[in-house]
Amino acid sequence: VKFVYDFTEGNKELKDLLGGKGANLAEMTNLGLPVPPGFTITTEACKVYLDSGDEPAALRDEVSAHLSALEKTMGKKLGQADDPLLVSVRSGAKFSMPGMMDTVLNIGLSDKSVQGLAKQSGDDRFAWDSYRRLIQMFGKTVLGVDGELFEDALDKAKETKKVTVDTDLDAAELKKLVTKFKKIVKSEAGRDFPQDPREQMDLAIHAVFDSWNTDRAKLYRRQERIPGDLGTAVNVCSMVFGNLGPDSGTGVAFTRDPASGQQGVYGDYLQNAQGEDVVAGIRNTVPLADLEQIDKKSYDQLMQIMETLETHYKDLCDIEFTIERGQLWMLQTRVGKRTAGAAFRIATQLVDQGLIDEAEALQRVNGAQLAQLMFPRFDEDAKVEQLGRGIAASPGAAVGKAVFDSYTAIKWSRSGEKVILIRRETNPDDLDGMIAAEGILTSRGGKTSHAAVVARGMGKTCVCGAEDLEVDTKRRRLTVNGHVVEEGDVVSIDGSTGKVYLGEVPVVPSPVVEYFEGRMHAGADDADELVKAVHRIMAYADRVRRLRVRANADNAEDALRARRFGAQGIGLCRTEHMFLGERRELVEHLILADTDEERENALKELLPLQKRDFIELFEAMDGLPVTVRLLDPPLHEFLPDITELSVRVALAESRKDHNENDLRLLQAVHRLHEQNPMLGLRGVRLGLVIPGLFTMQVRAIAEAAAERKNAKGDPRAEIMIPLVGTVQELEIVREEAEQVIADVERTTGVALKLALGTMIELPRAALTAGQIAEAAEFFSFGTNDLTQTVWGFSRDDVEASFFTAYLEKGIFGVSPFETIDKDGVGKLVRDAVAAGRATRPDLKLGVCGEHGGDPESVHFFHEVGLDYVSCSPFRIPVARLEAGRAAS
Ligand code: ADP
Ligand code: MG
Ligand code: MG
Repeated sequence: VKFVYDFTEGNKELKDLLGGKGANLAEMTNLGLPVPPGFTITTEACKVYLDSGDEPAALRDEVSAHLSALEKTMGKKLGQADDPLLVSVRSGAKFSMPGMMDTVLNIGLSDKSVQGLAKQSGDDRFAWDSYRRLIQMFGKTVLGVDGELFEDALDKAKETKKVTVDTDLDAAELKKLVTKFKKIVKSEAGRDFPQDPREQMDLAIHAVFDSWNTDRAKLYRRQERIPGDLGTAVNVCSMVFGNLGPDSGTGVAFTRDPASGQQGVYGDYLQNAQGEDVVAGIRNTVPLADLEQIDKKSYDQLMQIMETLETHYKDLCDIEFTIERGQLWMLQTRVGKRTAGAAFRIATQLVDQGLIDEAEALQRVNGAQLAQLMFPRFDEDAKVEQLGRGIAASPGAAVGKAVFDSYTAIKWSRSGEKVILIRRETNPDDLDGMIAAEGILTSRGGKTSHAAVVARGMGKTCVCGAEDLEVDTKRRRLTVNGHVVEEGDVVSIDGSTGKVYLGEVPVVPSPVVEYFEGRMHAGADDADELVKAVHRIMAYADRVRRLRVRANADNAEDALRARRFGAQGIGLCRTEHMFLGERRELVEHLILADTDEERENALKELLPLQKRDFIELFEAMDGLPVTVRLLDPPLHEFLPDITELSVRVALAESRKDHNENDLRLLQAVHRLHEQNPMLGLRGVRLGLVIPGLFTMQVRAIAEAAAERKNAKGDPRAEIMIPLVGTVQELEIVREEAEQVIADVERTTGVALKLALGTMIELPRAALTAGQIAEAAEFFSFGTNDLTQTVWGFSRDDVEASFFTAYLEKGIFGVSPFETIDKDGVGKLVRDAVAAGRATRPDLKLGVCGEHGGDPESVHFFHEVGLDYVSCSPFRIPVARLEAGRAAS
């Protein structure tokens, strides 16, 4: 195998092997763009290193060969004393992990070659600045020295000189700083800073390999669901220098606005600086547009390159560049991250520009982004007290208590508080706090700062660079125009406008929801750009998807909303709510009945109430299928709480005040008490042991359907039996149901076509699906219970008790209750689909667990050939979109 690729050898399709950065550096090189020469060590080499603890045997020679070639191209040798070649050693995994991995610049500098660099550049200050940066970065990321020690030494040097920025330190001071830095290395790392350039390079390469497994990299991967075994590539890239004076500099840019999708000049530029200075927010950057004044030639060239990249990648790109004495160099590009709204707008803009087609546009967006766009926003008409304004870095409306450090953010959020994490700027150590917070507010940094990039990736609201805000983390407060916000005070931040408010600002629904609700029309001239884009992409998704999308809805109101959101029926109508409220008393009568007559009377009273519910529901869903699930939960859920009732009875006893009903109730509660009710008397088991219960429900459905038909409606009821484990259970219920339906047809004179089917939510049902299909016209996979029973996880308990530990240990990347476990639960679904269809080719198949609205799971259900997914009304647009993406 080949472990090293020259930049001229790779291309953008090789991300698995060369990482994103390496693949795109190669792509740019081959596009003829100005990229400093270099080579990439593959992720395969990294994997060998991580697995065995040592680099593959062939790597050293391969690196030597590529280094020699690079030295030849550049006409100087790595670390050569009189004129050193310097390189950066840069991490770069398949998926970009901003700020997560390590990069070391200026490799090749030593006590000797720093002199050579000074002579060659004619700039002492520059040479010593580069050297102190190398020791600092190398010390921190390769030798594991606490970075603060270097920072403090640098701050002290600035204080002594009474200057505020590092560029004001002269060569002599930087030279002193180098001596100081070397001392820090020696005492902290227990070794000298290596003077041999090749040793520097090799150690840095290993450090990049190792950085794949740092805690913060692992945390980021879990958050982003990036597999843990991909490894990172390492790029060795000849250095270009942005710190060579005012005609040099470094910057970042986007080919269009990552927040709105608007085309234009977006980015930040920093004169006389090296790469990391921009992202770290050490000095204040200027807007990229200012570069036109500073260096028109480089500016024009950059604009040209940005257009080339957009046309080539057919997408928004982000870019890192450096200008060395008027010469522009490209250091990185990739398809840029963007906000959810921008994703939809950019996709349709690119269609209009003829760069991509509609099918591609559909792939450029996803359900998670659509879900984000359905979040509410701040009410524009609300009376607000604006504290300040920063950069709109990641959209959303977040309200919470101000906290000034990650620890407090985590602590408070664990106890149920909503918090806004306020920092001067964030760094990778703040990741946990950012995850815990509702939103993130910083006073420094631009759209490309750590806070902004990470928040956008997480879909968290973020306002950054709110410079009026003086953040005092030590005293846990911020001051703005004489106003003081203390820890715990409520603030509201708007990630779409960058505005920061004091107190709680009320929120209003998003325009995308207004559109789905039918209150805003995409065709209207003044319709929001975003709404138009969403409309177009949804229309395309609906055209190509095969999966139908139904709603889980229990009443007419939810059903109507679901219909507006595009539901093509109800996949799960739970009937338990029809037994609650004032009807609870009737249910008590049913449970307490001693004689058949008492029981029948109770059922007789429930019948018309249920029937009315169904009439309303069938009317709301006229012409579309409605799957009604017969009663599922254990009966004790309808009875008073055992402790409460015991106390009441005991009190009455002591007053010699017998309440016959309470006593009977208490007996019933004791009788029905189960250690493990979720595996107890529920579902079809209720129907089998409580005579008349299921038949009453079937009668209510049948009579309601008959009445709707008489009213010229088109009811399409489907009756679903829950928690079946064997076909025998289903056969008994089915026979009784058929008799009732026949009876209703006779008495009403209306012919009814009511489908009878079952949920597949127990392993045994899935394993015997072939038999069960003989008695079922449809299956609906109840993946919540199925996950619970296949894993043996109590769904009400485990998420709070040990799932965090499981997630941290990487046992699974995401809760199996959120995204279907394809290998286990999914295998049962897949096999049951095949077995069911083998018995009954026209068997209708759907899913009604929470997974029905989860993007990744929707793709799975498409793939195994279900007919529909059913989810909560709010998730319907997401399911429609993902069903479209799965099909195209
Ligand atoms: P990250 O993945 O964190 O962006 P990079 O490898 O891109 O890390 O490098 C960090 C910074 O150093 C970037 O600003 C980059 O532009 C700059 N940089 C990397 N390599 C070079 C180089 N050869 N010459 C000049 N600057 C460089
Ligand atoms: Mg970079
Ligand atoms: Mg269930």
